[in-house]
Amino acid sequence: MSANTKVEPGPHDTAAILAADARHRSGLWEPDVVYVRGEGVRLYDADGREYLDCMAGIAVASLGHGNERLAAALADQARKLIVAPQNVANDTRTRFVTKLFEFVEPPLERVFLSNSGAEANEAAIKWARVATGRNRFVALRNGFSGRSGGVLPLTWEPKYREPFGPYGAEVEFVNAGDEAALTAAMNDRTAALLLEPVQGESGIRPVPDSYLRLARRLSDEHGALLIFDEIQTGVGRTGTFLASQASGVHADIVTLAKGLGSGVPIGATLMTAAVAAAMPKGGHGTTFGGNPLAAAAGLVVLSELEERSLMQRATVLGARLMEGLARVGAGVVSEVRGRGLLIGVQMAVPAGPVIAALKDAGVLTIAGGGETIRFLPPLVIDEAEVDEVIRRSAAVFAAFA
Ligand SMILES: *Cc1c(COP(=O)(O)O)cnc(C)c1O
Repeated sequence: MSANTKVEPGPHDTAAILAADARHRSGLWEPDVVYVRGEGVRLYDADGREYLDCMAGIAVASLGHGNERLAAALADQARKLIVAPQNVANDTRTRFVTKLFEFVEPPLERVFLSNSGAEANEAAIKWARVATGRNRFVALRNGFSGRSGGVLPLTWEPKYREPFGPYGAEVEFVNAGDEAALTAAMNDRTAALLLEPVQGESGIRPVPDSYLRLARRLSDEHGALLIFDEIQTGVGRTGTFLASQASGVHADIVTLAKGLGSGVPIGATLMTAAVAAAMPKGGHGTTFGGNPLAAAAGLVVLSELEERSLMQRATVLGARLMEGLARVGAGVVSEVRGRGLLIGVQMAVPAGPVIAALKDAGVLTIAGGGETIRFLPPLVIDEAEVDEVIRRSAAVFAAFA
């Protein structure tokens, strides 16, 4: 099937939906496409055009769209029980949490469940404060930690952070990879150092393993906690469940969200037993976090990761996609970075028009800092689909060469 073929009559009136949609868009971008349906890696808009989804809701749709097993598990759980706050136990949540701990090793032995990445990081920061009695944080330049009040001071991008301050926490930003700067920034007042093992929003920039090891050593020396934000890198996308597992460096707290529910909102703050114990009873909580629907979704994602070897496939297919994009992008692509299916294509030309042209050619991607285009397809993508992404991208890159 060629790019953007009309596969079925448009079920909706695109212009009318876009006009009505404007009412909820304060502070958001204006869309020009109405997505109505998805199947695996493919998305269809209201006019029946087909796209290969290499955005996946920004690394969210790990199982792709319209996954039958996920849909069935959600329907089944919805019939059984949707509401079970965390002051009671629930069988599905327990199964999900038990499964989750098959993918991470000690010292991560406790988890707090929430509904989003920002909430997962909010929890991490609260636990770090209460466990250390400190309120000073070190974070990375170009790092992204979310957009809610407690985490905004740790989000580097000034246009996201500055209009909404001042903030209660003291934060120092250092350049990723600059060992001297990190050494200087860490001190005995530091509650925690928070970083993404591969910086996502700033263009898929892997942080060197040696820097992660230094981060661990300095945190220990100063009695600070090490927090890995794996909200974008986690849940198998880089080929290991946590991107940090490839480095052998263990954090005290690890946050997950995006891919964990394959679209069903969920956040998780993994932590050591010692950190967990610092929170007084009732010191943190959430109404919806860890609800049985989200837990059912998470359980399907983890089961599919395992049974379909999706992490191993992410390594193989990610290498294939990176190699292919570099090959067909010669002349317009200056660098292809990443790990597994977390891929950043650094353009030698402005990225915005290329992203728009890719969309017109039936490949959905997303900007990622500077002139980088992120390719983050569902983990269920297959060889033929990877090759189709490369083929469609080749035509677009050629037009910009
Ligand atoms: C997306 C993201 C967040 C925020 O998650 P939300 O679910 O949008 O609140 C935090 N950190 C990283 C690394 C992210 O990619």
